[in-house]
Amino acid sequence: MPSYSAPIDDTLFILNDVLKYERFNNLPGFADASPDIVEAVLREAGRVAEEVFFPLNQVGDQEGCIRHDDGSVTTPKGFKEAFSQYKEGGWMGLGFDPEYGGQGLPYVLHTAVSEYLSSANMAFAMYPGLTQGAMAAIHVHGTDEQKQTYLPKMVEGIWTGTMNLTEPHCGTDLGLLRTKAVPQGDGTFKITGQKIFISAGEHDMSDNIIHLVLARIEGAPEGVKGISLFIVPKFAINEDGSVGDTNGVSCGSIEEKMGIHGNSTCVMNYDDAVGTLVGEEHKGLKAMFIMMNEARLGVGLQGLAISEIAYQNAVIYAKDRIQGRSLSGVKHADKKADPIIVHPDVRRNLMTIRSFNEAGRAFILWAALKSDVAHRSEDKEEAALSEEMMGLLTPVIKGVLTDKGFEHTVMAQQMYGGHGYIEEWGMSQYVRDARIAMIYEGANGIQALDLVGRKLGMNGGRGVQAFFKEVGDFCQDNREDENLAFFTKHLKKGLNDLQSATMWFVQNAMAKPDNAGAGSHDYMHMFGLVALGYMWALQTKAAQEKLAEGTGDKQYFDNKIATSRFFFDRVMPETSAHLARISTGADSMMAIPEDAF
Ligand SMILES: Cc1cc2nc3c(=O)[nH]c(=O)nc-3n(C[C@H](O)[C@H](O)[C@H](O)COP(=O)(O)OP(=O)(O)OC[C@H]3O[C@@H](n4cnc5c(N)ncnc54)[C@H](O)[C@@H]3O)c2cc1C
Repeated sequence: MPSYSAPIDDTLFILNDVLKYERFNNLPGFADASPDIVEAVLREAGRVAEEVFFPLNQVGDQEGCIRHDDGSVTTPKGFKEAFSQYKEGGWMGLGFDPEYGGQGLPYVLHTAVSEYLSSANMAFAMYPGLTQGAMAAIHVHGTDEQKQTYLPKMVEGIWTGTMNLTEPHCGTDLGLLRTKAVPQGDGTFKITGQKIFISAGEHDMSDNIIHLVLARIEGAPEGVKGISLFIVPKFAINEDGSVGDTNGVSCGSIEEKMGIHGNSTCVMNYDDAVGTLVGEEHKGLKAMFIMMNEARLGVGLQGLAISEIAYQNAVIYAKDRIQGRSLSGVKHADKKADPIIVHPDVRRNLMTIRSFNEAGRAFILWAALKSDVAHRSEDKEEAALSEEMMGLLTPVIKGVLTDKGFEHTVMAQQMYGGHGYIEEWGMSQYVRDARIAMIYEGANGIQALDLVGRKLGMNGGRGVQAFFKEVGDFCQDNREDENLAFFTKHLKKGLNDLQSATMWFVQNAMAKPDNAGAGSHDYMHMFGLVALGYMWALQTKAAQEKLAEGTGDKQYFDNKIATSRFFFDRVMPETSAHLARISTGADSMMAIPEDAF
């Protein structure tokens, strides 16, 4: 049986000692997040993850969701009760605007909490996750009336939310979408069309489901410029705010899928369903992007979260399973063989995952802090720069953390030998669940293109220059620190490779766009390596400071530094291979004619 323990101490080290988040207590909501409050919230979130979400993880996988003939959907046993506990604990509105019932705590804290919940039960955590994305879009682009009507109930968790983009003939290329919206002359629209793969589209855990739907107003221009965003509730809302008649929305079927069985993935049919416009006509994608950016960070977090739980279980197994003897002599003479954790190749897997998880956690919390600054700082310049950095890093977080997250669930499964392939041990579920994160919310190939094709050049490259400067300044400022020399040397080498690749695109991709497409996946991963390396350098410095002070758990800080050294020894050098591949351009990739495949 698998187990899960929320990595609270690691989160606290990152927040308090590495990111020193207390520096930001001039931002709204941060004053309420004193260190003791943060620790209390994390400990309680850890308990909810371990005791409420986690026990339902395998149940959800085995039972899945069931659609009935009337279109209603039943979630796995225990989900409804667990959702009530989540709701009553006030978790939905943890980081949300107090004007609508939220607690207004920093987004960085919400992010830390979400990691635990996704590790414990990714399929279940998606129900609140999608609701929070829908809340964000309504909050930024909704009218006052829409905000008053929907947000308080969603914050309370009485109503949940979804995002409806995908149609049978279009996923990546939303310009092809056909769902239509007909104005009724009273400010409402009638929405007709079919959406597929809608997560949490129908279920039994809330009184109403608020669908955010992309559709094309009759007569709108072709392509993405003619798409608008609508709120379409499952049940109409009465004048007094109570739930009224059914709207023309129904779940036609639910998908049989590879993983996340506890989440209902629905075909949603809209048949003259009444909806209201969110934001401006034909500017739906812009409004949806608020939701998509938040959702992309949430999906990146899923990659990390599954990697973490898979790692924890692989470690337990590797200490317990005895096979063979250590190459450097018997380590456990009292046993008939040594535990497999003594073998360097087993360590290679475990250390690779560990060095990713601890840096990935810091990376996503660091990015969440940037988001807090972007949305809460009164210093317009600082807020704009943080927003640009966030925009730049969103595809990196989504693409790298989910590609690696999946790779690591496979590595962790490998530690179990044949037992990893047997359902009872739980590793197979992590592999299956993690796989979707590479696909939805924009397949990872598209994230890489977004980074290279759009984000790099945005506002004259201000975001990327700011990132290069931050990492470069760290290396420069610490150049005399002998204890950090090894780490900054390797970080600087990675940064130089990344800058060379960026320059290569500037010189070679304008005239030949296939060169950008051919190198984008490598570039995204290279960016991820430098960002993770930067996180390791920051963590190493903080751990060394703690050791010098003589406070805290010495073994924990020694382990941090050893893991950091492993990352720079064994993982960071991959930037050279990425650079070499990028510099070959698209020629060999595109040489074979289409019809020769
Ligand atoms: C379990 C599950 C849950 C989902 N939940 C939701 C949801 O809640 N709401 C929602 O709206 N959607 C949802 N989706 C849909 C998901 O977001 C899409 O499947 C995804 O965006 C990819 O779209 P597609 O499947 O049409 O693939 P396609 O767009 O057909 O892409 C196929 C492949 O081609 C590549 N490709 C496409 N265009 C390009 C290009 N221009 N350049 C390079 N490569 C390209 C892609 O990277 C991909 O590998 C979900 C899907 C699943 C399976």
